[in-house]
Amino acid sequence: MNQIKCTQCGTIGLEPGFIEDAGQGAYGYARWIAGPLERGIFGGAKRLGRPRLRIDSFRCPHCGHLELFAQPE
Ligand SMILES: [Zn+2]
Repeated sequence: MNQIKCTQCGTIGLEPGFIEDAGQGAYGYARWIAGPLERGIFGGAKRLGRPRLRIDSFRCPHCGHLELFAQPE
């Protein structure tokens, strides 16, 4: 375990995991894109040229709260 603290209930030691992206052509994990969401003409998110970070997720075993951290890949 780790020393990460749940900001909801204060439990220390959260379970590591990640947010799945099961979309077509997806890498299998969600990423954080810098800048507010903008949509293109087909409704998809514009993300060209923006920094994208891997999202690490930690689950509190006591209350189920998720803590998210965006890290460089
Ligand atoms: Zn908690």
